[in-house]
Amino acid sequence: RYQPVNREDVLKERREHFGANLRLTYDQPVMLMRGWKHHLFDEWGRPYLDAYNNVPHVGHAHPRIQAVAADQLKRINSNTRYLHPAQTEFAEKILSKLPDPLSVCFFVNSGTEANELALRLARAHTGGKDMITPDHGYHGNTTGVIDISAYKFNAKGGVGQPDWVQLIEVADDYRGSFGRDDQDRAEKFAALTDTALDNITKCGGKLAGFIAETYPSVGGQIIPPKGYLAGVYRRIRAAGGVCIADEVQTGLGRLGEYYFGFEEQGVVPDIVVMGKPIGNGHPLGVLVTTHEIADSFAQGPEYFSTFGGSTLSCRIGKEVLDIVDDEGLMENARIMGGKLLAGLRDCEREFDVVGDVRGMGLFIGVELISDDNTRAPGTEIAAYVKNRMRDVRILLGSEGPHDNVLKIRPPLTIDEEGCEMILHSLKQVLQEVTIRQGMG
Ligand code: PMP
Repeated sequence: RYQPVNREDVLKERREHFGANLRLTYDQPVMLMRGWKHHLFDEWGRPYLDAYNNVPHVGHAHPRIQAVAADQLKRINSNTRYLHPAQTEFAEKILSKLPDPLSVCFFVNSGTEANELALRLARAHTGGKDMITPDHGYHGNTTGVIDISAYKFNAKGGVGQPDWVQLIEVADDYRGSFGRDDQDRAEKFAALTDTALDNITKCGGKLAGFIAETYPSVGGQIIPPKGYLAGVYRRIRAAGGVCIADEVQTGLGRLGEYYFGFEEQGVVPDIVVMGKPIGNGHPLGVLVTTHEIADSFAQGPEYFSTFGGSTLSCRIGKEVLDIVDDEGLMENARIMGGKLLAGLRDCEREFDVVGDVRGMGLFIGVELISDDNTRAPGTEIAAYVKNRMRDVRILLGSEGPHDNVLKIRPPLTIDEEGCEMILHSLKQVLQEVTIRQGMG
């Protein structure tokens, strides 16, 4: 139980005791004390609609998660050096969702850590060091994976591009080099990999692999053209590299039609990385790979993580995946995502500032522009819309190289009323934008 708290006091203390680059969202930050499904409640009990957070995948404060966590904490919470059926049951559940030959699981504590491990596995298996990755990706916050996160290393004050990383253009067919009117755009974007491979050869490097978010999220909620990853993977494998799919944002049913994004792209990765939603808020990351790659890694020193694969984590992770199945949440993502996308496409027709609406299931981007002819990014418009939506108590984010893409990514529990609320409020805010622009 908390005593009544003053938001301003918490803000002041936070500014004193935390680094300034630990950012808060919104001009007027929110303080959230409770959650339930896709609803959030602030310090006064006022409700907000969560249209942003992908971590509470099966909904905030799910009673089944509370129950298994409490049950396991009463029994034991130990590590992978001892046998426990919760660990193998969790692995079995994950593997039931993945195609052959993906059959070996590693449990870690975050998406970052899973990507770190993916780098080690790729290097152990190939003997190479060099990585190829899209030019606006994010894979985590540690020294190792910042180096493959162009979004961070290229940012102001970032560490810069390491010599062992080659970047290829994000396959964005709205704003990138090849547009939607080009039938061959998937292959043309994929062919950019050839230059990256040539560069590695020229520099005397050796390829370890390719890593990408299956649908680039910080890149602007991009849905690459169908067949894109197949073209990239073919080239990477021909050059002896390992293909890593970061499914932290796209996995576990969010896309509605597909449990994992790579299925839509018609590929089977060598390594799949999961994070955020798989623990529904409990810190948990998972890496799945082939026996062949795991065996190469096993030639090296012992692998161990104190908390990764703890009994508690495994109980929670399995429960999350069971809930997705039991509550039909992937199907809900398909239906609700369809409703949202249809309503957002109406907005695209109605408002000039909406340049593009794209998405699948509950992974949605709305690209805002300030000029319909040039597609000049509507960065300030996006900031305005995001903050006004917060005023009417709907939480969503903004993303993309120009920070002009509204990011809609609610828990999979969202219902028709929630979708209506988002669409109704967004239309009102976009009307405000139109009026302001008219006056400006
Ligand atoms: N990969 C992707 C695609 C992500 O979006 C994130 C987190 N936003 C991560 C990796 C890192 O996950 P974590 O913050 O849990 O370490």
